[in-house]
Amino acid sequence: MGEAKDALERGDFERAFRIVEEAVAAAPDDPEARELYAVTHLAKAIRLSDRAREARRQELIRRAIDYDVEFDDTADVSRMFDEALAVIEDVLRVQPGHWKALLLKASLLFRRDRMAGRPQALEILAKLAEADPTNRQVPFTIRKIERPCARCGDTGFCPYCKGRGTKRFLRMESKCEKCYGRGICPACGVL
Ligand SMILES: [Zn+2]
Ligand SMILES: [Zn+2]
Repeated sequence: MGEAKDALERGDFERAFRIVEEAVAAAPDDPEARELYAVTHLAKAIRLSDRAREARRQELIRRAIDYDVEFDDTADVSRMFDEALAVIEDVLRVQPGHWKALLLKASLLFRRDRMAGRPQALEILAKLAEADPTNRQVPFTIRKIERPCARCGDTGFCPYCKGRGTKRFLRMESKCEKCYGRGICPACGVL
């Protein structure tokens, strides 16, 4: 596992990922290997999920769709979300009750499709809250998810710049200050 940690510290993420996958396959009960497996896989899932959301936003800009108009994700965006979900499922296979993996799964289901994902996410979160009532992050996430976001019309995109990340004023393009140029709703975009 030292080799995997070294790779992580060097930022060689893919190498760490491979070493840990092999280690868990060879010794499925080793707690250290399992924890490193969770850490590396969840980091990968977060990157994939962020990439999927960013691809969705770019698609919105490219197709000049108004941010509050319903539109279907492209096949690429859907695939990225599915890949992120599959990586989380890998973690849950190795450690079924892993709370961070479950929390991330709830957020991802919600991010992928708010209408369909909201009840699924809330169900996971209710179980997490019951399992550990002292965990502050769970009720925080429930509050963010349980009601449609009024600020952005529940689109997840920044309403001030319509998800573009930039604003135009006197023919000058400048970074949107409300979302720091990310195009993500400042109220619900943390998820
Ligand atoms: Zn919002
Ligand atoms: Zn903005």
